[in-house]
Amino acid sequence: MTIIEPHIHMISRTTDEYRLMYEKGIRVCVEPSFWQGSDRRYAGSFFDYFRLNLEFETVRAARFGVDHYGAVALNPKEAGDGRLADEVLAGMQEFLGHERCVALGEIGLNENTEDEIRVFRRQLLMAEELAMPVVIHLPHGPKVQGTEIIVGIIEAEGVTQDRILIDHNTEDSMSISRRTACYCGLTVYPYSKLTPQRVSNIIREFEADRVMVNSSADWGVSDPLALVRVVDYLAQNGHPDEVIRKLTYDNAMSFYSNSPRWKPVFDLEPVPVSEYQR
Ligand SMILES: [Zn+2]
Repeated sequence: MTIIEPHIHMISRTTDEYRLMYEKGIRVCVEPSFWQGSDRRYAGSFFDYFRLNLEFETVRAARFGVDHYGAVALNPKEAGDGRLADEVLAGMQEFLGHERCVALGEIGLNENTEDEIRVFRRQLLMAEELAMPVVIHLPHGPKVQGTEIIVGIIEAEGVTQDRILIDHNTEDSMSISRRTACYCGLTVYPYSKLTPQRVSNIIREFEADRVMVNSSADWGVSDPLALVRVVDYLAQNGHPDEVIRKLTYDNAMSFYSNSPRWKPVFDLEPVPVSEYQR
């Protein structure tokens, strides 16, 4: 089975994991910009990171047969320093226009503060102006309240909903996200977020249209093969192939196809290590 991983932070994963992803059928992935573990103090640190994601990680992934795309944004955790945030937003255009950038993201909320809401709204409108797909991160803590705020802003601003992915949904937030025509993401983690079983129950309740599953794997305890486990579990749990394919391929394909730069290649050949490792 060929899988698209629509949200993963490969910059913090290993070459062994790229090899396993390829072996298990994960052939294309998208890496949104995220928090790096400590707050950045200079706008230039963001710009170097955007370039690393779009130009280095893409090449590293291709060596293992994985076609890697990026998304660019200021994440909600770093919205507190207003002057720095404005400087980053002012310099982001160049990276949003990069040939490997297929979305603006991830934006969203973390603690639902006024600073976060301001930076979220500005980036949401920036994406609308550029007609780009947007990846939105729901807060892990105050999730229901954060989802209400985010959906409220999407509705009030009248932005194009079928170019938006609202990610990290749970049973509680799905009924709010489903009020919109936005795509909905479900994130599977080994120790928090959702399990394949919870994904199965959510799909039985809300169906698979415009829903996609992801691992959001980063430097925390997470699993770049989560989608493979979801495919296996859903099949055993009696979900039809068509539903599984929607969740792990079709819906990601139609969402990112809103970007003209999205031209996923599913048959990249891994490069023998002797050709690039010195
Ligand atoms: Zn993420």
